[in-house]
Order: sequence, then structure tokens, then C-alpha cells
Amino acid sequence: MNLCDLKTVRQIMSMFNLTFRKEFGQNFLTERTVVEDIADSCCDKENMTVLEIGPGIGTLTYELALRAERVVALEIDRGLIPVLQYTLGSFGNVKVINQDVMQTDLDALLAPYFAQGPVSVCANLPYYITTPILMKLLESRLPFETINIMIQAEVADRLCAKAGSKDYGAITAVLAYYGHAEKLFTVPADRFVPAPKVNSTVISIRLYHDEKPCVPKSEEMLFRTIKAAFGQRRKTLINALDAGLPDLDRQTIDSAIRACGFDPTIRGERLDIHDFTRLSDALLGGD
Ligand code: SAM
Repeated sequence: MNLCDLKTVRQIMSMFNLTFRKEFGQNFLTERTVVEDIADSCCDKENMTVLEIGPGIGTLTYELALRAERVVALEIDRGLIPVLQYTLGSFGNVKVINQDVMQTDLDALLAPYFAQGPVSVCANLPYYITTPILMKLLESRLPFETINIMIQAEVADRLCAKAGSKDYGAITAVLAYYGHAEKLFTVPADRFVPAPKVNSTVISIRLYHDEKPCVPKSEEMLFRTIKAAFGQRRKTLINALDAGLPDLDRQTIDSAIRACGFDPTIRGERLDIHDFTRLSDALLGGD
């Protein structure tokens, strides 16, 4: 069965009396080489477990199952579960769970797999919920090897932007704290059914574990500083932090910025994650 073939996809959907559900961001991949390339990019180790979010009719899951030791797939749409039994039934290494990833205790679900070998995430993510899913994965602090996701191209530009560029934002800095993100390739909208309005890009995030490049005195202060710096994007750093950190007085903020060697009138988007770490430490004061 060729799950990338448009006719086959439509046949399967009608066989199970299903329509593509917009509210779940259902745009299914129909380009074999793209599906293979995503699966290859993720499965680069022996004895891997892959967590897939949103298997759809199983197109990517099929290729992951051929490459990884195990695949655990979370699908929110109950209607797709019999389809996945039909398309993936021949694999003994795929576990499909009918669950919303946002409501899933990933720690409890994945603990047994982390004990067995490397675990990575691979997904063609639904656009409507890309950032919350990504933040959930990062904040779970689970030791994923990589998070390889297909997302809207503009979001990929933002996540992988360099400090000082127009796409750089709070989410870029926060992501850079957790891992190194790079764009792998872009996929035109017409390679999906139904075709979305925008192109997609596959990115790979290699998470830092013990070797984190930035170790702030307080993570909470680091994230507050980043949020404040981007809260008022057109403001100078001093004004943005003054507005976003009401518990600190302007003089303290000014001194901290200068102590880090920055001009208080620069904009927050000039700072990379190393700069934000130093600044948040300085804002905390002490030694
Ligand atoms: N992996 C398939 C592919 O590449 O063709 C489908 C990708 S489609 C863009 C997104 C999938 O995520 C859909 O199957 C959708 O039902 C599922 N989904 C949407 N929200 C979800 C959630 N919160 N938890 C789990 N799955 C979700």
C-alpha cells in the first residue's frame, strides 16, 4: 500500500467514512521522498524509540517503523485509529495511542523507553498548535536525542533565526537555551492533501543535556528577562526591561545592563542566549 499516493489516501478516507479535519490541522504528506527524508533524519541511532505526534493515516509512521526499534504514536482523532490499525497492522513495533499530546503525561508514557535506548520525537505537526507542543516537549525536560518536526516555514525561520535578525524573537532565545535548532529542508504546500496555504520546513533540534552551553543562576529569571526584553519589541532594552520587570527599579536594571557591557539603548533582539544568561544573572545581583 502506497500511503503517499493521492488516490490511495482518498480511498482510505472514504473507506473509513472520514473527512480531513481542519480543526486538527490534518494536512497529510503525499511525497514519498519527503517522508523518507524525515524518517532518515530522525532515525540515526541503533535501538531507537521514536515518539510520533499525529500519525494521521500512518504515512510517516510506516517509514519510522521500518527504521526504528519502536514507534509510539499519539493521535487525537479517534476516527483515525481504525485506519492506523489497517495501515500499520503488520508492524509489531508500533504502538498507537488515541490521545491528545497536550493532555499526555509524557514522562510516564516514555519512562520505560528511555530505559532501553535513545528516544527522539518525529512529527509533521499540526500548525494550529505547533508552539504549545514544542514548549511542552522542551519543558518536559525529557532527555530526547532530537526533536525533528515539520512546521510552517515562517515558524521555522523564527525558531532558527540569528540574534539581531528580523525573525529573531523570545521563542528563538528560549529554544536556544534547550538545544541547537537547524533547518533541514523546505517542502512546498502542494505536497500535502489537502494543501495548506503555506510552505513547510523540517527542522531538527538537538537537545543539550549535561553539556548545556548556558547555565543561569535562575532559569525563572532568565525566562522572565527574555520575555520582558521582547515584550515591547520597539522599545530600547532598558525601557522594555523596566516595563516588564516591575519588581526591579530602573537604576538596578541600568546598572545590570552596563555591567554586562551593553548599551541600555540597544534593542533586546540584539542579545543571544549567552547575553541573556549574563544579563539575568546580573539582574539578580549578588556575586
Ligand atoms: N503524520 C501525518 C502525515 O505526515 O501525513 C499527519 C500529519 S497532520 C499535519 C497532523 C496530525 O496530528 C493529524 O493526524 C491530527 O489529527 C493530529 N493531531 C492534531 N492535534 C493533535 C494533538 N493535540 N495530539 C495528537 N495528535 C494531534
